[in-house]
Order: sequence, then C-alpha cells, then structure tokens
Amino acid sequence: MKFNPFHQKIGIIGGGQLGKMLIESGLPWNVAYNVLDPDAHAPARRYADTFIHGPLVSKEHILGLAEISDILTYEIEHIDVETLIELKALGKRIIPDPEVLRIIQNKKFQKEFYASNNLETTQFRIVQSMNDVASAIETLSGEKFVIKSAQGGYDGKGVWIVPKSEILNGKLDLPPMEYVVEEFVENATEIAVIVARSQDGEIEAYPCVEMEFDPKLNLVDHLFAPANISSALEDSLKDLATRAVQKLDGVGVFAVELFVDQSGAIFINEIAPRPHNSGHQTIEGNTTSQYEQLNRILLNLPLGKTDLLGPVVMMNLLGQEGVEGDYTLTGLEELFKTPKANLHWYNKTSTRPGRKMGHLTVRADSVEIALQHARKIRRALQMKPFTR
Ligand code: ADP
Repeated sequence: MKFNPFHQKIGIIGGGQLGKMLIESGLPWNVAYNVLDPDAHAPARRYADTFIHGPLVSKEHILGLAEISDILTYEIEHIDVETLIELKALGKRIIPDPEVLRIIQNKKFQKEFYASNNLETTQFRIVQSMNDVASAIETLSGEKFVIKSAQGGYDGKGVWIVPKSEILNGKLDLPPMEYVVEEFVENATEIAVIVARSQDGEIEAYPCVEMEFDPKLNLVDHLFAPANISSALEDSLKDLATRAVQKLDGVGVFAVELFVDQSGAIFINEIAPRPHNSGHQTIEGNTTSQYEQLNRILLNLPLGKTDLLGPVVMMNLLGQEGVEGDYTLTGLEELFKTPKANLHWYNKTSTRPGRKMGHLTVRADSVEIALQHARKIRRALQMKPFTR
C-alpha cells in the first residue's frame, strides 16, 4: 500500500480517558493505535489494535510497545522516562521529547526551569526535609505556603497548603523527601491554556479557560470559556504559556496551568505535556480539539485552528460518596433533552468517591446558561451500586 501519513501506528503509554479520546479523534482517519496500561479494563483498551497489559514504569513493556509502534506518545507523566531516553537515542520518534518529560516529572526541575527562563512563577525554595521548611519561609512572604513533594504528586496529592503558624510551631509532619515550598497566591483565579506546537515549530494557543476547583477533592469541578478576564489579561496569559512551551522546545500538546492574583499579576503553576482535563471541552467547543491537534502533531500534519465556537462549560463527573465498585448509571433524561450537551463516559468498570468517571460539555448562548444546564444534568445523573 502506498504510504500516507495515516498509516503510522501510534503507541500510547497509558490507556485512560485521555488515551481514549485521543484515539476517538483519530478514528475518522483510520489511524491505528497500540496501548500500554496496567489496568486490564483501561478505558482506551477497546480501541487498541494491540493492548499491552503492564506497568507504565516497566522497561520491558515500554520496549514491547515501541517495537510495534512507529511513534510513541504518553497520556500520563509517571512513566519510565529513562527507557524513553534510550529509545530516542536509538532513533525512535517520541512526542513530546522525553527530555521535556524529565523536567516536568519533577516539580523542583519545573520551578527551576521557569525561574531560569524568566517565566513568571511564584517565589519558591527547595528543601530536603520538613526540618528546613521553617528557615525556607523566612525568605518568602505571606501567611500561607504551599508545600509540594518534588516527585510523584498528581491531582492535588502531594500538595499541602499550610499556614505559616503551623510551620513555625513545628506541627507539620510530612515524610522525609525533597519538597518545593512556594508562596501561596491568595484568591487566585486559576486559568489553563492549552498550547500545541508542531514538529516544524508552528505554535497555537487555545483561548484561556477558567477553572473552578472542588475544595474538598482538590480537583477541577468545572471550567468555562471564555474566561472571565480582560482581553489584555487573556493575551498576557497566552503569551506566557506560549513562551514556556517555546523555551521547553516542546513538540506536542501542553496544558499550562496559571494563576492570576488579585492585583492581576500572573504566574505559571505547572505544565502537563499531554492533553489535559482542562482541554476536554475543545472536542465540542473549539474548531480543533486538543486530541485532534495531538494526532496532527504526531502524524506531522499542519496544526488546526483553536478558535472557541462559543461559550462552553466542561463539568467533571466524579465518583459519588457512598458508591464503590460496580455501578449503574441512571438519570440520563435531563442530558438527552438538553441541546448542545455532550456526555463523555470513560467506561471505567468500577467507581470510587472522587474518581474521574466522565465529563459533560455544554454549549449555550452564555457561560451562565451553560453552567445552569450542566449543573441540572449532573444533579440528575446518579451512579447507583449494581448487584448482579
Ligand atoms: P498537582 O500537580 O497535584 O495538580 P498543583 O501544583 O497543580 O498540583 O496544585 C494543586 C492545586 O493546589 C492547584 O490547582 C491550586 O488550586 C492549589 N495551588 C498550588 N500551588 C498554589 C499556589 N502557589 N498558590 C495558590 N494555590 C496553589
């Protein structure tokens, strides 16, 4: 068969909902995918030409995936980066570059990268144990600080927001390891900008989205676009996010999370080198989704436009309190009677409180109306325990 760009096999390390939606966006082009995941019921499994069941940090399994794939990508950061670096040296195409992943995997490396490249970020210090936190905060300002384990954190795990008094009283008791201690941004507006950069260096930033967090779970409850900010601020945030990806020399799709403080100052919080929860709504809400954009980049095709089609809300559907294991989904009527409302259900076979089970995207004439619809749909949807 004559070669065309769609005849390259993409290997994805990680087969969760991000992998699932990446594959869904490539299906109209008949792109084939292989998937590696430790969960035999991984959401992306049913779409995979070959599913490799194994750990994401296993050299043997990553080599196995590389052998049957033309290009490798990943949908999660906690993977064996050293094997990817070895594969790259042998000529394997890996997007984003594993050297970029190596920086991002470690919050200390990330912070140092931002600081040394004049990318605005909160003031921080690195400490090797809890004993050093009190002296570190003497050179920082504020009444609250954020302590983050340098390695291994995700979805707010490994992040502690702590009042100064608690640190000075020696009340804090965290396991010995390396931490980033940073200034807390009071009443921050949390913004995400998805930035796509092609193999040729073409770059596109998506419009800013504003995120509202669930304070108990430390996860995004919902987000909306356009963000409730001035166009000058929107431009500054997109510019900072774009500069960060350029400085990383990153190729791929990057989710840049930023804070805006009460005075309008902006800071980069962190970057994910992959499609992200904060870009789910680009499937229905933008000209080109973050997933299609990554497929274009992997296949070395031109980038698509990122314009917002209109006001949009994305709401996470998290596992409910009191329901664990097998479940059944009820209360779909509200969803199906609402125009421009879309459900993405990740096909996870069991639920637990706070687990990301699916999401809703709702478009309307205004963010307020879209949010009202989304809230109503989510209230109606219930995961009920299922017994056979
Ligand atoms: P993770 O990588 O686990 O998502 P983050 O660094 O994004 O961790 O922190 C999780 C959340 O904690 C952020 O989304 C934000 O709500 C809050 N947070 C983190 N750092 C700060 C900060 N310096 N100031 C204010 N809030 C912060």
